[in-house]
Amino acid sequence: MAETSTQSGERPSLPMEGIPQPTREEVLNLPRVYISSHPVMVHKMTALRDKNTQPPEFYRLVKEIGALLAYEATQNLALEPAPIETPMAPMVGQRLAGGIGVTPILRAGLGLAEAFREVIPDIQIWHLGLRRDENTLQAMEYYNRLPRQVDLQVAYAIDPMLATGGSAIDAINILKLRGIPRLSYVCIIAAPYGLLKLSQTHPDIDIYVAALDESLNDVGYIMPGLGDAGDRQFGTL
Ligand code: URA
Repeated sequence: MAETSTQSGERPSLPMEGIPQPTREEVLNLPRVYISSHPVMVHKMTALRDKNTQPPEFYRLVKEIGALLAYEATQNLALEPAPIETPMAPMVGQRLAGGIGVTPILRAGLGLAEAFREVIPDIQIWHLGLRRDENTLQAMEYYNRLPRQVDLQVAYAIDPMLATGGSAIDAINILKLRGIPRLSYVCIIAAPYGLLKLSQTHPDIDIYVAALDESLNDVGYIMPGLGDAGDRQFGTL
């Protein structure tokens, strides 16, 4: 974990050192923020956070938690009439109206994208590579496979960890340029600092969170968190 370098030879400052952070209680009731309290989610989160959980099990849990989040985050999608025939009679059913896009922020968002695909197989997956500079914690784009022409009812930016909010805000900015009518952000763990920043910068999106943690440490990791979500999914510890 890097420290910011200085010219003067003093001890380098750490990116979140001394930066005031809101408490959990201060962000619990933000508008359009949905924090899961489902007991099955809480149970799975405990297994996910445990440092003894190895990458294959960790990835499986990310997908299970992602499926629960996908289910919650799609609860208000628009439907349109769909006439069909059952083996017994004709009827008018309903189908999802319009396409659904999912933008995983690379690489940690990949497990959540698979979870969304298992819940709704015909989603479009648009990969977005945002790397976080460890000194400044600023997000930098290095990969973008978003199509120019889009016709979606909703797009979800997904990333397991909402820490400082930098990548989340950038991802939503990038999606807003595509003119998609509804945008949501989905994460597994949020820190109060990043959640407040994202909600204040983009008050027009819905934010779905599996768990709200206490704070960020001096280098921008979520506490108690789960460590590095990318390393733990892909075994690069
Ligand atoms: N990204 C992670 O993977 N973990 C954190 O705690 C913060 C950002």
